[in-house]
Parts: sequence; C-alpha cells; structure tokens
Amino acid sequence: MDDYSDYYAGGEIMRTRITLACTECKNRNYDTTKDKKTHPDRVEMKKYCPFCKTHTLHKETK
Ligand SMILES: [Zn+2]
Repeated sequence: MDDYSDYYAGGEIMRTRITLACTECKNRNYDTTKDKKTHPDRVEMKKYCPFCKTHTLHKETK
C-alpha cells in the first residue's frame, strides 16, 4: 500500500505526487503518488504516525 513501486509502472501513467498528513498531529508523514483518474477525491488511509506512535487516519494534503 505504501510503497513507490508503481512510480514508473507502465511507462507513461500520469501519477500525481501527494503528501499524507496525520489528522491527529498534522505532521506530514508520507509522500506518495496517486492516479488522479482512479482517485479523483482526496485520499484517506490509516497509516502509522511516528509522532502519535500509533496508526492514525492520514489525509492527502497539498
Ligand atoms: Zn500523528
């Protein structure tokens, strides 16, 4: 889920860089990419936050 392996998968897939921020402490913990065609809305996912020291909801931020 949180790897970068499909960065160049398929050659010319347009992926948008996004930052995922913890909704609890607001720290920006993850940089990742998404395909705007499959995820037109803001991404939300549970991820480990090293500041909260637990899994929290992370939301896409600019
Ligand atoms: Zn946090």
